[in-house]
Amino acid sequence: MKTEIYSLLDENAGRAIEKAAEYICAGELVGIPTETVYGLAGSALFAEAAGKIYAAKGRPGDNPLIVHVAEPADAENIAHTTPLYYALAEKYMPGPLTIILSKKDVIPDTVSGGLQTVAIRCPAHPAARELIRVSGHPIAAPSANSSGKPSPTTAAHVYEDLQGKIPLILDGGPCSIGVESTVIALEPDDNGCVILRPGAVTEDMLAAVCGSVRVAEAVTDPGKAGDKPQSPGMKYKHYSPRCQVILIKAPDAAAYAAYVKAHGTGHYGVLAAEEESAQFSTGTVLSLGRADDEAEHARRLFALLRQADQRGYETLYARLPADHGIALAYYNRIIRAAGGEIVEI
Ligand code: AMP
Ligand code: MG
Repeated sequence: MKTEIYSLLDENAGRAIEKAAEYICAGELVGIPTETVYGLAGSALFAEAAGKIYAAKGRPGDNPLIVHVAEPADAENIAHTTPLYYALAEKYMPGPLTIILSKKDVIPDTVSGGLQTVAIRCPAHPAARELIRVSGHPIAAPSANSSGKPSPTTAAHVYEDLQGKIPLILDGGPCSIGVESTVIALEPDDNGCVILRPGAVTEDMLAAVCGSVRVAEAVTDPGKAGDKPQSPGMKYKHYSPRCQVILIKAPDAAAYAAYVKAHGTGHYGVLAAEEESAQFSTGTVLSLGRADDEAEHARRLFALLRQADQRGYETLYARLPADHGIALAYYNRIIRAAGGEIVEI
């Protein structure tokens, strides 16, 4: 199959979305931009489209797909909503928040990975919402990478992983957030929520609406996911470039740089903040942006993991970030990229 790329950044954007909607209605797949990462979109109403998503990504069939809707209230058609769902939707939808609800029968079991629940998100990206509206289908869309690889934040990343497997990619430029949505489950009787995957809607933002917010242990410790985690995605290898990622817990940038200098061998790269880069006299620094801009670190992470492979590094050094706010999203991805290991110095 030939994979075409249509730009959303010129006057043909409307036609590109119509073409994508035709594919969705015909049960085919399209790579689409969202504000978080690029998604591999298919109709959430067709088991067959979901089957194609798992096959194209090489994703295990028990790792459920997030279903995207154009309006928060459209969740009614596919799931059993609760008052807390609407309170959260009021504040954070459209946006990078995914809420797990009990599902209705229109959603095939293939989409929900055999679970009786379904994950719902209303994306903020105008093209993603327009595609859902024009196609008239809720859209199942996991990240548009090969399973296990870093998520795609540009159309070129999607092409790298899925060329020849899907007919169309919509190019909306780089994603503005760059890490996947926050995934939460609501506690029984709407008594708070639990974060299963951290994202740009942070613990504090959720607490402003929910009162009680727990962070699942597996978010910062992949070893705690177990065989039957609350979110199946927790147990899989994730975000892994080919190079080995070594994650360092260092008290400051100087100690991090000294460790890398003492241990770095061969062809290696270093993830570090712009202002810290001069401290690394060996290895090549891949800049995360300004030290105090944690949202920028998260935005750049996946593209830098891919760049490390393109440059053929054997090893990539990274420093353990803070474990709150948007930094928790970075933490969750980098610890998985490092296979769950932390080197404490
Ligand atoms: P991705 O599709 O790559 O953004 O990953 C979606 C994440 O949401 C995975 O970690 C899934 O395990 C999680 N997820 C999706 N649906 C559910 C669900 N019904 N219950 C729990 N976790 C879910
Ligand atoms: Mg993914």
